[in-house]
Amino acid sequence: MTIAQPRTRPNSSTREHRALALAEERFEEIAASHRGGLYTVPASGGGSYDGTYTRDSESCSCKDWQFGHTCYHVMACAVVRAKTSICSGCGRRFRHHDLVELHEDNHDNLTYFHGDRLCPACADNAGVFGRAS
Ligand SMILES: [Zn+2]
Ligand SMILES: [Zn+2]
Repeated sequence: MTIAQPRTRPNSSTREHRALALAEERFEEIAASHRGGLYTVPASGGGSYDGTYTRDSESCSCKDWQFGHTCYHVMACAVVRAKTSICSGCGRRFRHHDLVELHEDNHDNLTYFHGDRLCPACADNAGVFGRAS
């Protein structure tokens, strides 16, 4: 029963609650750690785990996951992923409303395209105009 269980379905509401609490408390940290589907997820007892959450793969370096459970670290990644988008500059994840979408009137930087979304730091580096600071 431990091995055959589908991983995408949380099998414990306790895990789900811990995931939501973790995602809320450490949201910025988890989002900023994002690189190509990989996240650094803070562990409750200190340290951190390496979580992966993409459209087609999920995994975690913790014991819970090794034993075949969908751990709350992966669930926390899922929560963060759902609420964020990737910055076209640095590849980290930011809340949708923190990203600036580029269009022809707010930048003339040749590195980026119209429609790209940048985090505040990357927008500053790219010289995006008209950002409220
Ligand atoms: Zn885990
Ligand atoms: Zn950025």
